[in-house]
Amino acid sequence: MEESKNFIEEIIDGDLASGKVQTVCTRFPPEPNGYLHIGHAKSLCINFGLKSKYGGKCNLRFDDTNPSKEDAEYVESIKSDIRWLGFEWDKLYFASDYFDVMFDCAVKLIKKGLAYVSDETAEEIRQRRGTLYEAGTESPFRNRSAEENLRLFYEMRDGVYPDGSKVLRAKIDMSSPNLNMRDPVLYRVLHATHHNTGDKWCVYPMYDFAHPIEDAHEGITHSICTLEFEDHRPLYDWVVRECGFPEPLPQQIEFARLNITNTIMSKRYLKKLVDEGKVTGWDDPRMPTLAGIRRRGYPPEAIRDFCERIGVSKANSEVQESYLQSCVRDCLNRTADRVMAVFDPLKVVLTNYKGSETLQVENNPNAEPVTYRSVTFSDVLYIDRSDFALVPPPKYHRLKVDGYVRLKGAYIIHCDEAVTDADGNVTELRCSVVPGSRSGDDTSGVKVKGVIQWVDAATCIDVTVRKLQSLLTDAVDGVTDFNERFNADSMQVVTAKAERGLLSAKAEERFQFMRVGYYVLDRDSGKGKQVFNEIVSLKDSFNSAK
Ligand code: ATP
Ligand code: MG
Repeated sequence: MEESKNFIEEIIDGDLASGKVQTVCTRFPPEPNGYLHIGHAKSLCINFGLKSKYGGKCNLRFDDTNPSKEDAEYVESIKSDIRWLGFEWDKLYFASDYFDVMFDCAVKLIKKGLAYVSDETAEEIRQRRGTLYEAGTESPFRNRSAEENLRLFYEMRDGVYPDGSKVLRAKIDMSSPNLNMRDPVLYRVLHATHHNTGDKWCVYPMYDFAHPIEDAHEGITHSICTLEFEDHRPLYDWVVRECGFPEPLPQQIEFARLNITNTIMSKRYLKKLVDEGKVTGWDDPRMPTLAGIRRRGYPPEAIRDFCERIGVSKANSEVQESYLQSCVRDCLNRTADRVMAVFDPLKVVLTNYKGSETLQVENNPNAEPVTYRSVTFSDVLYIDRSDFALVPPPKYHRLKVDGYVRLKGAYIIHCDEAVTDADGNVTELRCSVVPGSRSGDDTSGVKVKGVIQWVDAATCIDVTVRKLQSLLTDAVDGVTDFNERFNADSMQVVTAKAERGLLSAKAEERFQFMRVGYYVLDRDSGKGKQVFNEIVSLKDSFNSAK
């Protein structure tokens, strides 16, 4: 069967077939002004995916041309998140390392008569820009000579002028139907300390000028970005052409960005949550950052699978959050070991059982080969209160008075009596073990439909469990403002009784708590106190909603 290709792969196939391109080279160009989020994962999967499909290269480039918001902490987090997702870059670049190249390109344009220094304010430039229906007005500084422009541009660089007093503009076409082509600003004066170049520069290139130069300088063949840059493509092409870069010139290709319901994909807003202390940090397990998702226990292979399944398109859309969760669930169903935990314990006393024993319980029925762990069993156990009914509905397969149930990996038990307090609440069940019913032994002749989890009261441990919800509530009645949709109740902390074996679990280890959900050990654990984050429940709301 021929694998179906997305539109980006079709473009690349054409470029390889025509001989325009020999080696496919892509890049992932984050601005280090925050942590990566799930939207970036999509871009990472596309760019690194093309590298592996075509035996090409993919660079990591920190697009750090804007000095004011960037930070070294972000650089380190971005590198570690990319590696966690399973990707390794070819070359590592900082755009700020070649500010000289960009400056030289600007000089070249000035000499060609294609750029000029303007003394207009930002407001004047905006006013003269025109609209979609009206041509713009030419700048009064548009016809300065190349010599004068060069002198002024060097003076800008040398710190002669204050912030905002002069800019370098491209000389293209003030009546172009594309507003981006109406003499866009290429350089501005900004006396700011840069995290990499310090105080060396007081002029900084604008994104639309810097980005194509970065791509061309690194030999990128296919520069993949999100749809909002579609209207910038003519300027991108103009810059790489007029700066005289060698063939093959990089080609910009746009795709639809990833949006997920109830999920924030703006570094600016995520930073606000961190700064205002509404979350514990960029890696709070409720955050849609890769660091947060990792702490929440989403496996990297599940995120790659999700990006693969949603595909690459040219049309903006919103993916259901439950679809991502269902990819996570599929992955964990295959890979996570099962353990037993009880969230709402109800004491069970086995009146005909003495002493204790160690049972071997299956870890994961989907694993090859199946492995086992030791779980202790004794005459006092806990089951979950929801697995017992004093007044059972018809066809109830869990425990009821005079009924049977199988304890996973152990015995069938019979409930002889429910002990209640003065208010009629069940406080304890008195049960008996059915002889010949130990797991693997079916000589008892008793058939049961229900299998429930349990823990041994003598050895179980109390674990802390964080139940997590989205940081945003559903958008109702047209309220789309993130601040108004903030879910103040997104983390609930409860205690559960769990198998003792979980004491040796390691941070980031993931488990299925049988019949409940998937959980990951958080690094906040320690001193005998294990803390788990809920990854996803067992129930698949995406498939059941269909
Ligand atoms: P934000 O608005 O969250 O700050 P950004 O686009 O400014 O995001 P960059 O650091 O500039 O963030 O992005 C690095 C790369 O990731 C870019 O190529 C960008 O197009 C891509 N990217 C960012 N958000 C998404 C998204 N939601 N879906 C797909 N790609 C994305
Ligand atoms: Mg950005």
